[in-house]
Amino acid sequence: MKGHFGKYGGRYVPEMLIPALEELDQAYAVAKKDKQFRKEFTDLLRNFSGRPTPLVFAKNLTQKLGGAKIYLKNEGLNHTGAHKITHCIGQALIAKRIGKTRLIAETGAGQHGVATATVAAKFGFSCTVYMGEVDIARQRPNVFLMEQLGAKVVPVPFGSKTLKDAVNAAIKDWIENVKDTHYVLGSVVGPHPFPTMNRDFQSIIGKEIRKQLKEAEGILPDYVIACVGGGSNAMGAFTDFIKESSVHLIGVEAGGRGKKIGQHAVRFPSGSVGVVEGYKSYFLQDSDGQLQKTHSISAGLDYPGIGPELSFLHDNNRVKFVSITDQEALEAVKTLSELEGIIPALESAHAVAHAIKIAPKLSKSKTIVVNLSGRGDKDIFILTKAFKDKKFYEFMKNLVEEGI
Ligand SMILES: *Cc1c(COP(=O)(O)O)cnc(C)c1O
Repeated sequence: MKGHFGKYGGRYVPEMLIPALEELDQAYAVAKKDKQFRKEFTDLLRNFSGRPTPLVFAKNLTQKLGGAKIYLKNEGLNHTGAHKITHCIGQALIAKRIGKTRLIAETGAGQHGVATATVAAKFGFSCTVYMGEVDIARQRPNVFLMEQLGAKVVPVPFGSKTLKDAVNAAIKDWIENVKDTHYVLGSVVGPHPFPTMNRDFQSIIGKEIRKQLKEAEGILPDYVIACVGGGSNAMGAFTDFIKESSVHLIGVEAGGRGKKIGQHAVRFPSGSVGVVEGYKSYFLQDSDGQLQKTHSISAGLDYPGIGPELSFLHDNNRVKFVSITDQEALEAVKTLSELEGIIPALESAHAVAHAIKIAPKLSKSKTIVVNLSGRGDKDIFILTKAFKDKKFYEFMKNLVEEGI
């Protein structure tokens, strides 16, 4: 069935949104086959976002671990610092084709908000981003960036004042303004066609990995490892290899700071099947179907749901899932920075940490590709706190004392 991956996926939304999702689905189906659309998308990835992103041989890390060869697909070199811009560009082009003039989005940490505000500015949409009041207070730097890009950031004052409340506010806005507004979804989640469409846009990652590794080594990778929040960078890296049974695909979830409810964001095996936010998949939820609280040091992995196709690939044993703790991810940031000169995003550091775990156990003839979904600049406040950098705090204090 359309938009289903086995029993997962689908379209569980209020009746009023069905026409908009149908319109989007049809416009995407036409665009996908349209040479002009593909050319425009590819041109923007190249000349706005900076693709292809490099596949870097991590020579020092490989030597230190003494096992499998490790390559890094550096998605952090994309414009705005992560893979997210790719599906935002794709959706903006589709929204334009169906005559929308306004983009809305919800954001937790602000990364998706910044990517959406960026494409809104580039393509001339007005832009409203919903964000919980608690998140606005925690993530002021990204709020500032969105405002610089011309977006309106609307604080959501109800519920827990975080991401899921922002989702509700954005859905309400969409229902009220569906005629001129496109809702930009930030991962391979939500109702059909979002999981399929965003996967297709991101699948450029795996296609580039295939080509670049072929040039470098003349082979397919033995392992592709990616972190999994909603799953867009993972599906992007995996899709081109799903049909290659020799390629192990590993998704890395956020093990957080412990195994208790609220301390992590590990959907496998802690989650259960349900319907939330318009789609059927695994979720961390209680017996009443209420989403559980989650925690991860990386905002992008701090999410109770997972894309429906990844749930399907999990059940079929095509993608294996593991988890990495906050502490292991922090150590991986340090290791990769010092050995390779690349400061990874905390999300991506989860994938790096798993590669560090398995590489020494594998033979030197094996090759691992780690998808580095983003760069670490955005994490500077979390990192300085985690590494207890007192000098940085003095710097901040001085800034405050100087006043505006
Ligand atoms: C948002 C984000 C993620 C998580 O989202 P996915 O849809 O699971 O890819 C991972 N890494 C970075 C750098 C992000 O910004």
